[in-house]
Amino acid sequence: MPPGPTGLSAVSVTGGSSSINHTPFSISTWSFSMPVPFTTRRRDVLQATAIGVAVLASGCAAIGTGAKPRVVVVGGGWGGLGAVRGLLAAGGADVTLVEPNEGFMSCPLSAHFIAGHQPASDFQRSYARIDQLGARRVRERVTAIDRAKREVVTATQRLPYDFLVLSPGVEYMEDGIQGYAEARAQLPVGFRAFEQIAVRRQVDEFLAKGGNFVISAPKPPYRCPPAPYERAFLIAEQMKQRGTKGKIILIDANPNPMPLPIAKPILNGMKSLYASQIEYMPDTAITAVDMGKRQLATSAGDVPFAHANLILPMRAPAMIRQAGLGERWANVKLPSFQSQADERIYVIGDSQGSPLPKSGHVAFGSGQQVAEAITDRIAGKTPAAATGAVELPLGICWANVTHKDAININVSSSVAPGEAPKLKFTVDPEHNARSGAAATSWGNGMWKAMLG
Ligand SMILES: Cc1cc2nc3c(=O)[nH]c(=O)nc-3n(C[C@H](O)[C@H](O)[C@H](O)COP(=O)(O)OP(=O)(O)OC[C@H]3O[C@@H](n4cnc5c(N)ncnc54)[C@H](O)[C@@H]3O)c2cc1C
Repeated sequence: MPPGPTGLSAVSVTGGSSSINHTPFSISTWSFSMPVPFTTRRRDVLQATAIGVAVLASGCAAIGTGAKPRVVVVGGGWGGLGAVRGLLAAGGADVTLVEPNEGFMSCPLSAHFIAGHQPASDFQRSYARIDQLGARRVRERVTAIDRAKREVVTATQRLPYDFLVLSPGVEYMEDGIQGYAEARAQLPVGFRAFEQIAVRRQVDEFLAKGGNFVISAPKPPYRCPPAPYERAFLIAEQMKQRGTKGKIILIDANPNPMPLPIAKPILNGMKSLYASQIEYMPDTAITAVDMGKRQLATSAGDVPFAHANLILPMRAPAMIRQAGLGERWANVKLPSFQSQADERIYVIGDSQGSPLPKSGHVAFGSGQQVAEAITDRIAGKTPAAATGAVELPLGICWANVTHKDAININVSSSVAPGEAPKLKFTVDPEHNARSGAAATSWGNGMWKAMLG
């Protein structure tokens, strides 16, 4: 791969690339692009029409009553917070955020906590800013969506909506590994907020006692494909520093590390830095777990373990399927992220099933974009039909190879009417300290945009 203009290498995945026009987002050590926050891009293709106003007015319970239309956002993670911040900034809606957790914890960069390099508090933030800005926060879990009545259902209440934004993230698919459901409490996955704390306990025990630590990677699509390798690297780095006796067995369902454009730098990092700590088993399926024997059955034979962090295949949470919005993932229209089944519902972040990467940056950008679209609909503006390719939210991902060095992955994408989205990957050819520092700055910038 030839290095690109920034030292990164560009790889087109499904064809040509789009012309990208991102707003610069400045950070202290480096600068990168962030999806246009809320204002210009889609407004260019929107226009007010009298018909649009009339159609929307008839469907919005609050219009004409003096009250603002109700927008319910499910999930206070990366996507949900992008939508909430955009909606609150625009001021046209009565915004309710439904989120069971009392605070936010980031999955991006949390490998630094799991491996013991940083405290959990570095990755946690309060929802106080959302409260101050005027959102109503319901600290409950959504159990169902009543599309006929336009209500979101929790254990204690029904919340009416005019527009619904769903960003509840992912659910693990336990069925593929026999015995996993019974062993769930002992085998935390740690790919959702706050679950990292249970994984950290296992890592601490492993680093103190040694033995076999199994980490697995499923077949895509799953949340943040480089994350299983990054986790293995940062734990292996600690093994070296602490002299832990044992090894990490990285069981990969794929023939190469994912995503493919960074397979080479991932393999290089593994070989050059952790040849004595990591045993890599590519193309290997885990079929069963026996916690009594502490043994995994795999397509390459039995693997004994002292500790295991099995990263399971993923899908959208059950509420999406039960509401008829899709099977494994929610079916959405692009570029709008509107549900294919219901024009009042938008599904963003990892729950939606477009080919965009399952990344927090995409989730936040799509949340902001959807907030803008809803604001326009409330104002009676209807989108003009796109005539050419439209850019989609940018993806930015980091795979730390040491706690200081990372591989940067940028994914730009666009969609033209009637065509599949086109994705273009731009990646670091090798891990480096500049991307390591940029990852930290990126995280701080994103958390500030969400909750600062
Ligand atoms: C280890 C790791 C590293 C990563 N690194 C990067 C990276 O470098 N860059 C990047 O861009 N992305 C990264 N990601 C991916 C990123 O975390 C996800 O893509 C992002 O969190 C998706 O946002 P979301 O809003 O869909 O889901 P989430 O951020 O998970 O938010 C979902 C929210 O919904 C809530 N929820 C769930 N069910 C319900 C319910 N029934 N009712 C109400 N609320 C509910 C949850 O409590 C949660 O707060 C990483 C992920 C992992 C696991």
